[in-house]
Amino acid sequence: MLDKVVIANRGEIALRVLRACSELGIKTVAIHSSADRDLKHVRLADESVCIGPPASAESYLNVPAIISAAEITDATAIHPGYGFLSENADFVERVEQSGFTFIGPRAETIRMMGDKISAIKTMKKAGVPCVPGSDGPLGDDASVNLELARKIGYPIIVKAAGGGGGRGMRVVHSEAALSNAITVTRTEAINAFGNGTLYMEKFLGNPRHIEIQVLADKHGNAIHLGERDCSMQRRHQKMIEEAPAIGITEEMRNKIGARCAEACKQIGYVGAGTFEFLYENGEFYFIEMNTRLQVEHPVTEMVTGVDLVKEQLRIAAGEPLIFKQEDIKVNGYAIECRINAEDPKSFMPSPGTITQYHAPGGPGIRVDSHIYNGYTVPPHYDSMIGKLIAHGDSRETALARMRTALKEISIEGIKTNVPLHQEIMNDAAFQSGGTSIHYLEKKLGLQ
Ligand code: ADP
Repeated sequence: MLDKVVIANRGEIALRVLRACSELGIKTVAIHSSADRDLKHVRLADESVCIGPPASAESYLNVPAIISAAEITDATAIHPGYGFLSENADFVERVEQSGFTFIGPRAETIRMMGDKISAIKTMKKAGVPCVPGSDGPLGDDASVNLELARKIGYPIIVKAAGGGGGRGMRVVHSEAALSNAITVTRTEAINAFGNGTLYMEKFLGNPRHIEIQVLADKHGNAIHLGERDCSMQRRHQKMIEEAPAIGITEEMRNKIGARCAEACKQIGYVGAGTFEFLYENGEFYFIEMNTRLQVEHPVTEMVTGVDLVKEQLRIAAGEPLIFKQEDIKVNGYAIECRINAEDPKSFMPSPGTITQYHAPGGPGIRVDSHIYNGYTVPPHYDSMIGKLIAHGDSRETALARMRTALKEISIEGIKTNVPLHQEIMNDAAFQSGGTSIHYLEKKLGLQ
């Protein structure tokens, strides 16, 4: 097993990784910015190293400082969490060249999946269903592009191969608008990602976001752990996630899941990963793969009983998967609400000191959060301060437990989006389930 792990992240996910390490008897090193000295996991870790000032570029994205921290603490491995350097192939190479184990896939895989065109090509080859599209980069010849779009059929979406975070894409409804849309998106992509490569695909009008969790080891074994529905989004940011997804039968889950596991085997995938799909009219369309642990991983853990972070650590240590596909069963329903320090109406971040905190509890309730009484939420980072997860035998029970927990949770001194979650839990369409990725924004009057 790994001896000592550097946790190259902050907040709730750093605490989550620390808990898994602790259960497996692995020592931990917390690295943190000068704004994060009081983070809960920094206090709980075996060792901690301040690696820089508050700005992420100088701390959580500061590769030499992170490698140095691993060296001076004599660590063996680095867990990147999500965000920050978790999907940065150059970082993975630096980690490995310095003699440490990166807890995640190989650099080569991350690079391949980071380019959406190569990701789609690879997935198509592996038999994963993709959105009909250009199957490659768009050139400068307007007539060729018009012909491509005509074949796909409007509306289409022009997307940046190097895009991320919901940026670098534009929907085109007619031939007249195509050429200009390509020019504008290309300029945006160059400015935002330093890469003007574009592709196009069919724009799906009313899809759901459904994703498949996978685990793969270094010995060629791969399994899937079913799906999550993450359609409740605002500005392409997920707010509420659940597992399993309403309307997805065991047969459908096994079919798409098997394709994903098979793709993992074909590309030599290692670690935890997620295949993201748009789902419309009974069909799955691959859009991208996330080569890391996801924020919403707890809903899968609650229904399968598998600790995904412990599995990541075991896989990185070279152990074969302890689960076979037939061991994975989906039990009950789980829902997760992301709790953000923000105004529930304007969504403006609300950093500051938490003067009073009371966590909810009871059957089926899980709280993944680093906050405590007197903790000050710094203004420098993402506003998510925790996740509230409810599990029950039925979706109704999970929902009822979530409603109770949202009433019980008390966070004072800062504003949070708890009131918005309370409203959504009582929304009739959400209660019925199966709403599309546009539902939340429409409800909030943002579309
Ligand atoms: P990013 O890496 O920026 O998150 P994705 O390719 O995952 O980009 O797409 C982000 C979101 O954009 C999707 O969740 C969906 O809401 C929308 N989207 C992307 N591709 C399509 C498509 N072909 N049809 C409809 N919506 C799309």
